[in-house]
Amino acid sequence: MAFALPSLPYDKTAFGDLISEETFNFHHGKHHNAYVTKTNDAIEGTDNAGKKLSDIIKSSTGGLFNNSAQVWNHSFYWLCLSPEKKEIPAELKSRIEADFGSVDDFKAKFKEEATGHFASGWAWLVLNGDKLEITSLHDADSPVAHGMKPLLTIDVWEHAYYLDYQNARPDYVAALLDNAIDWDFVAQNLDGEGVSRADQG
Ligand code: MN
Repeated sequence: MAFALPSLPYDKTAFGDLISEETFNFHHGKHHNAYVTKTNDAIEGTDNAGKKLSDIIKSSTGGLFNNSAQVWNHSFYWLCLSPEKKEIPAELKSRIEADFGSVDDFKAKFKEEATGHFASGWAWLVLNGDKLEITSLHDADSPVAHGMKPLLTIDVWEHAYYLDYQNARPDYVAALLDNAIDWDFVAQNLDGEGVSRADQG
């Protein structure tokens, strides 16, 4: 069965100025949708038809890798966002404090990684073995392809923020990290919840 563009788990106007409806119309409705269409076109009639998205990512290269990983990364990214400001659940908070010193230190390091990442890509909080790590990956690349368990991502391609923040990537990253992250979802990903949800397309 072909992959479908997943519905957003909130209204496109729910984030106000943090992420505009226009950004969702382009980012979800055009960019994400195009990656879904191109992935479906590439797998139709091949051995990849009917496989899980993460399995396609792990076994592909070139255009299919880029498009399937972008489908997965975007599906995961939408789930990381919440229009309602949330607290970090206790277990996740203590793991962040153990591996980064404090929540503030973690946020500062994440912002530095996301802001400093050169050109297009994604900033990630991952579980690598039993340790939380902050990393960024270029273009379509995804932790799914590297045996790391993704917990949180922020899309730092210009198409994610240019309409609302123009070239001010630091303001976009700070706005999301401080106000618009679904920390309950991030905490559930310690058990792999998000990987299976994003795998559905
Ligand atoms: Mn994007």
